[in-house]
Amino acid sequence: MPTINQQVRLAERPAPGLADPSIWSLTHEPVAQPAEGEVLVEVLYCSLDPAMRTWLNAGRSYIPPVGIGEVMRAAGVGRVAASKAAGFAKGDIVEGVFGIQKFVAIAADQVQRIEADGTPPEVHLGALGTPGLTAYFGLLDVGKAKQGDTVVISAAAGAVGTVAGQIAKAIGCRVIGIAGGHEKCRILVDELGFDGAVDYRAEDFGAALRAACPQGIDVFFDNVGGAVLNAVLRNLAQGARIVVCGAVSQYNATSVGPGPTNYMNLLIARASMIGFVIFDYQDRYPEGRKQLAEWIADGKIKPRTHLVKGLENFPTALNQLFAGDNVGKFVLQVAEVP
Ligand code: NDP
Repeated sequence: MPTINQQVRLAERPAPGLADPSIWSLTHEPVAQPAEGEVLVEVLYCSLDPAMRTWLNAGRSYIPPVGIGEVMRAAGVGRVAASKAAGFAKGDIVEGVFGIQKFVAIAADQVQRIEADGTPPEVHLGALGTPGLTAYFGLLDVGKAKQGDTVVISAAAGAVGTVAGQIAKAIGCRVIGIAGGHEKCRILVDELGFDGAVDYRAEDFGAALRAACPQGIDVFFDNVGGAVLNAVLRNLAQGARIVVCGAVSQYNATSVGPGPTNYMNLLIARASMIGFVIFDYQDRYPEGRKQLAEWIADGKIKPRTHLVKGLENFPTALNQLFAGDNVGKFVLQVAEVP
């Protein structure tokens, strides 16, 4: 087993905009030994999330910022390399918040075992992990999507969006995805079963969205905000629900925009716009995971993973999320997986 750990640490806070690779330091130190009640985990996969960019900024948010000098926070899947905790043995596959590093000694109560059921372990960072749960509770609990609704999803080809769209199809909604570029739109329709897809970068985006939703939009699952949100506000059905899941168009913004310019449409449509944070649903994760696993087993949800290899590639991979390089869940593989 290697004796040297490698870690990506935050060396300084980024200027507004994409995080410059110079803000990171790659450190090496001896692999820690687990204390009583801890497990030593060899990290196999790290989750790459747009929200990581927001964790780099000082100031108030839904979670504290990553501190200067700290290992970058990241959810991960790993393999137990040594255990001093009851209930865990060497070789167990586990998930937790492990950080961008190769090894972590961590309290056993911060780690969940992944039972071997044939599902690739990295799917526990995507369709069976936080993105899948976010899609499930955001769409059904916050957005109250129901059979017959027209559901529109932004960043639809991403980790949350691909699952949200497939859940909406599974319950009998008409689903339109919004994504960047012809190829992503093709994948949504041809491979993931969306009823339609609209390219938000195309000149006729507004008209194409209206044409795709002739009865108006009942549920908008918004991952993007900004101009895309403005376009959707012009096409609401009466009683529409807008789920504020994220605002990825704003995470690298160098200035604060004026907000939705046409929010009076909420009044006209008697619509609601509700934000949520998935952590508030922790008590109900087992329910969500069970249903997502059933839909995956039935073929109603096809998990997609976009893998990039190498811990040292984290700084560029983080920025690739904002270039839209991924279809499905963006994952950094940091160890060889047999
Ligand atoms: P994605 O896998 O969707 O990756 C981000 C995607 O956003 C890119 O692939 C890109 O796709 C699109 N994008 C990037 N920049 C822009 C832009 N300026 N305008 C429009 N689209 C853009 O990420 P996730 O699925 O992991 O996350 C989706 C959203 O969900 C994020 O906002 C995230 O913060 C949020 N989230 C919220 C949670 C909660 O508790 N509320 C929990 C987890 C995630 P394209 O090529 O189509 O542009």
